[in-house]
Amino acid sequence: MEQYEFKAESKRLLDLMIHSIYTHQEIFLREIISNASDAIDKLAYTALTDEKVGLNRDDFKITITRDPEHKRLTVSDNGIGMSRAEMEENLGTICKSGSLNFKQNMDKNEAVDIIGQFGVGFYSAFMVASEVTVISKKYGEDTAWKWTSDGTDGYTLEPAERDFAGTDVIMTIKEDTEEEKYSEFLEEYQIRSLIHKYSDYIRYPICMEVTKSRKKEGCEEENPEYEDYQEMETLNSMVPIWQRNKKDVTEEEYEGFYREKFYDYNKPLRTVHVNAEGTVSYKALLYIPSKAPYDFYTKDFKGGLQLYSSGVMIMENCEDLLPDHFRFVRGVVDSQDLSLNISREMLQHNRQLTVIARSLEKKIKSELLDLQKNNREQYDAFYGVFGRQLKYGTVSDYGAHKDSCQDLLLFFSAKEKKLITLKEYVEAMAEEQEKIYFAPGENTDRLGKLPQVETLLNRGYDVLLFSEDVDEFVPQTLNTYMEKKFCNVLSEDLGLQTDEEKEAAAKKAEEMKDLLTFVQEKLGASVKEVKLSENLGAHPVSLTPEAGMSFEMEKYMKKVNPEFAYPVGRVLELNPDNEAVQAMQGALASDPEKAEDYAKLLYAQAELMADLPIEDPVEYTKLVCKLMK
Ligand code: ADP
Repeated sequence: MEQYEFKAESKRLLDLMIHSIYTHQEIFLREIISNASDAIDKLAYTALTDEKVGLNRDDFKITITRDPEHKRLTVSDNGIGMSRAEMEENLGTICKSGSLNFKQNMDKNEAVDIIGQFGVGFYSAFMVASEVTVISKKYGEDTAWKWTSDGTDGYTLEPAERDFAGTDVIMTIKEDTEEEKYSEFLEEYQIRSLIHKYSDYIRYPICMEVTKSRKKEGCEEENPEYEDYQEMETLNSMVPIWQRNKKDVTEEEYEGFYREKFYDYNKPLRTVHVNAEGTVSYKALLYIPSKAPYDFYTKDFKGGLQLYSSGVMIMENCEDLLPDHFRFVRGVVDSQDLSLNISREMLQHNRQLTVIARSLEKKIKSELLDLQKNNREQYDAFYGVFGRQLKYGTVSDYGAHKDSCQDLLLFFSAKEKKLITLKEYVEAMAEEQEKIYFAPGENTDRLGKLPQVETLLNRGYDVLLFSEDVDEFVPQTLNTYMEKKFCNVLSEDLGLQTDEEKEAAAKKAEEMKDLLTFVQEKLGASVKEVKLSENLGAHPVSLTPEAGMSFEMEKYMKKVNPEFAYPVGRVLELNPDNEAVQAMQGALASDPEKAEDYAKLLYAQAELMADLPIEDPVEYTKLVCKLMK
């Protein structure tokens, strides 16, 4: 037996690797299995041109053997194996990857994809093993070799026996400590679940002898006895559903996969199977859920897609693959074109990932638009669940993502009494209508009855009723949609008056100037301005916020960020054609005390209609009673 020391830099690297590269010890199994799969790929590749290999695709397999008694876990493959020199090269030097060499020497168009390329995966075994023995026989050679190491100082190398080409990686699992229960990695259920989690879609069967139970032969029917027996079982499902042809996958299979993978009992609303070929090729299986997870709108929710590289899971929640506004989408992405960093856990932020993310974003948007167009009922249901997220997406980052989001938004139409898109609003606009009107407030019922809304509806113009706090930020961010400006009917000029009407209004304001000054004086600091309005229909008064503001924002800020909340200036609008206002005007000269009472009453009414609390409810009720007497 010959004894070798690890190359000096290897020692330090090994230490680093065991303690810092991987965050989860359990991934050692994924690494060892991936190596076995790579080795089989290489022999299968050789078999394409070399009849002497004598193996068909179906003959290749990976076998796991548990030996809890001796604390041994073995992963065997019938792949290409390693020569003595290769063992020294590949296992004696960290960061030496035979796979990468092989790949570089291979014809680019060959249909093989090799997982390994960094030459560190193998050493992850030392995170859980006190000793690792590798027995390997290279295809085409007569002698097998045995490599053994405890992962600290060096390794030994000696001739060994093996019937056919391939490799056994025999790991002696560490003793349990107070913190770590290494012996778990010898348990059947644990191995089963690790294979399911990380290696389910390895393309070769991963077999293990498992314990099963059966009725004893000859036992009585009423009094059955059972016995355990051992049976080989394939633990992985091998062909990932997303790798299959779309037309070969049934609806049930798509749904079953979704339920199992994403732990959602509800049927997904939409399934999107993508097979993209181009600068970066990838396959993706995406789902739009029908219900939001309970923590969706909280910080705890983990978005992102599962990322696979050549059938091996790399990342559970790859957030870089999904923009925030589509974070409700669940699914997997698999690509051979990704450059992985050494741990396979994290991807370097690379161009390929950005390319995939961009194309997925487009795909999701077009799927949603399709749903909106062709199945409005379902889209409405979707929007009820995730619409808020799309609004957040529209306004976040100063509108950077508006192109992806704005066409997907829905708002309640006062005219149609249902949710409509901005496009539908603009397309239904009357020829002379210039603006997209919206009214912000607490609920659509009450907003629909606002004087300004009534006035617009009477003209045949529609008004979007904004009842969610984020709504109002949408016009602020978009500024225009299809070149139409937004107009807040409560705080902005509706732009309805002709020049003559404007002139007449100015004249009227001049005539009623004394009344306006009087009301302003009597209401004091409560109101910022008192003015006349032609937009109040049958209503005497309306309370509107000063330009550019809204009462909803005031309430929202008070709730979310009280420190920065400030009162929004109140503007009292009077309808000069209304009888109550005219009565106040009449009282001004004859009975100023009565005129003052009227002013206060009308102001309180305006507050009520604007969904604001009355400043002094006791005074208000006294005034009402006084009036009744
Ligand atoms: P990587 O897989 O990233 O290349 P590893 O440290 O996991 O790095 O493995 C180093 C090298 O050892 C591999 O590239 C491969 O050449 C060789 N190797 C590891 N496991 C096996 C195996 N089961 N059969 C054949 N060769 C193997």
